[in-house]
Amino acid sequence: MMFTETRENPADKRSPSHWVALAHRGIQLVFFLVVLWIGACFIAYAAWLLGWREAFSPRPPAVEGFLPISALLALKRLLLTGQWDDVHPAGLAILVTALVTALILRKGFCGYVCPVGTVSFWLFRLGRRLGLTVTPPRWLAWLLSIPKYLLLAFFLRLVLPGGMSVTDIDAFLHSPYNMVADTKMLLFFMPPSSTTSVIIALLVMGSIFIPSFWCRFLCPYGALLGLFSLFSPLAMRRSPAACTGCRRCARACPQGIAVHQLRRVSSAECNGCQECLAACPEKDCLSMRLGYTAQRTCRVPWPLVGISMLAAFVLAWALAEVTGHWVSEVPAEMLQMLHQRIDSIVH
Ligand code: SF4
Ligand code: SF4
Ligand code: SF4
Repeated sequence: MMFTETRENPADKRSPSHWVALAHRGIQLVFFLVVLWIGACFIAYAAWLLGWREAFSPRPPAVEGFLPISALLALKRLLLTGQWDDVHPAGLAILVTALVTALILRKGFCGYVCPVGTVSFWLFRLGRRLGLTVTPPRWLAWLLSIPKYLLLAFFLRLVLPGGMSVTDIDAFLHSPYNMVADTKMLLFFMPPSSTTSVIIALLVMGSIFIPSFWCRFLCPYGALLGLFSLFSPLAMRRSPAACTGCRRCARACPQGIAVHQLRRVSSAECNGCQECLAACPEKDCLSMRLGYTAQRTCRVPWPLVGISMLAAFVLAWALAEVTGHWVSEVPAEMLQMLHQRIDSIVH
């Protein structure tokens, strides 16, 4: 008979597991509050642009993080010409940071930074607490994830060879449509149409029953980061010798990954949140490790993933700000003029 050393109860507030979960959820909350603040600043700015209020409020450049298609086109232009996007430069900085971190830290952008991922995680926890969580069989989860890859293929078609030329991309990036895209997106949700409201309600309900419904099955941005993360040397590893097969890890995983059946979680869905590690009651059973093969791995201290994500985005922002790659070069007066005819621009 084999005995395994059992770690402290994960529910114990002083156990290391408690701190792993707390760190993930705390960093998520920090980013979520930052996004809320960015949203509030942008609403104040848009109100000035649209003539709803007189006082000028500066535009928060980070709002461009919500324009991933524009950023993707800007990335192709950057790679082919070396020119950084001057219309939505912060959007490009955020996309590049998300891609680079995905190559190193798995889909950490989804696990720690993206506000939609955070809300999905909260809905997953709500569903679990209410006992409503449903785990689709692997074949069904695989089938359901096809739409996000089709959406990704649709957008990648624009930037892969044979897609949009640099001249076309340049024309799009400097078009009035692209310049007002952020405000148009805001107006789309303020207030949302009845169709949009129904779709959002369905997605919320779906995320309560099926963990991370939107992220796992529909989001092309997450699909792209997932493909990049397949190259990441960092992954959660399970030691079969220490594992009792209790499945707590799989139940805690917001991405629906069957952690208890894997030795290395190399799935494109893993966002590095380490909730599985926090839930595992066995000492040294799960650990984040660097390395592609079981023979050559090196354990990574668990706080490193979340702290690295935080540091990567702060560093990217500071670097882009200092080097003049963060704030849009389009004058506010020009944008104000464009917004006076926003309806004719976007229709
Ligand atoms: S999958 Fe998409 S929506 Fe979900 S966390 Fe990642 S980027 Fe955000
Ligand atoms: S496998 Fe672990 S680290 Fe990866 S998403 Fe699931 S809970 Fe998070
Ligand atoms: S790895 Fe998962 S199944 Fe194995 S002991 Fe830990 S929580 Fe239980």
